[in-house]
Amino acid sequence: MSETQLIPKRLDGKTAVITGGSSGIGLATAQRFVKEGAYVFISGRRQSELELALNQIGKNVTGVQGDVSILEDIDRLYNMVKQRGQIDVLFANAGVWEFLPLEEITEAHFDKIFSINVKGLLFTVQKALSLFRDGGSIILNASIGGSKGVEGLSVYHATKAAIRSFARSWTVDLKHRKIRVNAISPGPIDTPGLKHALQNKQDAEKLKTSLLNTIPLGRFGNPDEVAKAVSFLASDDSNYVTGIELCVDGGMAQI
Ligand code: NAD
Repeated sequence: MSETQLIPKRLDGKTAVITGGSSGIGLATAQRFVKEGAYVFISGRRQSELELALNQIGKNVTGVQGDVSILEDIDRLYNMVKQRGQIDVLFANAGVWEFLPLEEITEAHFDKIFSINVKGLLFTVQKALSLFRDGGSIILNASIGGSKGVEGLSVYHATKAAIRSFARSWTVDLKHRKIRVNAISPGPIDTPGLKHALQNKQDAEKLKTSLLNTIPLGRFGNPDEVAKAVSFLASDDSNYVTGIELCVDGGMAQI
């Protein structure tokens, strides 16, 4: 039996939106959602990367180029989704990070990271609501970094703490619609985004070794290991789960 035949169709008939679906965790989640029966809309900043992702996903997917920090781009995404109908699942995943020591943080760095990770995520969720099916599921991509300190990542980690907080507040804000809101918090996951961030860092090998030494499972995760957990939160298997932070981190933040 092929792998696709073995995968449960937990998301059959559901429509899902994934921001940052052209790379890493977002792409792996789009692939898994489609295998589990969903129709998926993915967004990403670069058209060329988006097209490569669409080819990799293969079917039951639409790509919409756009930047989550630009509100008109979010409107354009949902105008496309509206033509299909209601949204059952939203994975607000798009996010960026850059290493900068406290002494070197600039206003531009702060504005960029907060604008994409916090403002972009907030309006991605808010603007989805008029299309959202009552009883649907929203998953916010946070990070175990939201509750840990890593040298040079203070601004990024503050954005992730904000996202974890949003999951608690929006669980309450959306309870009248029975929409569940959960945060997923990956540990270090082997993605193009992580590779890029490490490439631009001095002492990257030293950091990698020190991270590996603090992960009980002794390795970085792969994007599909996060996708499987997102799919659980998206599906009816997690019907009674809301407001949580699900850590997919090889145990890193749990010890
Ligand atoms: P990635 O760089 O491989 O993918 C990021 C995706 O987000 C890309 O599709 C990119 O186009 C998109 N994106 C970035 N900025 C955008 C914007 N302004 N508008 C629209 N799309 C945008 O990175 P990844 O590692 O897969 O990260 C995905 C999410 O997971 C991020 O929110 C990141 O903070 C979070 N995360 C990653 C790790 C890790 O170790 N990889 C750990 C914890 C949390």
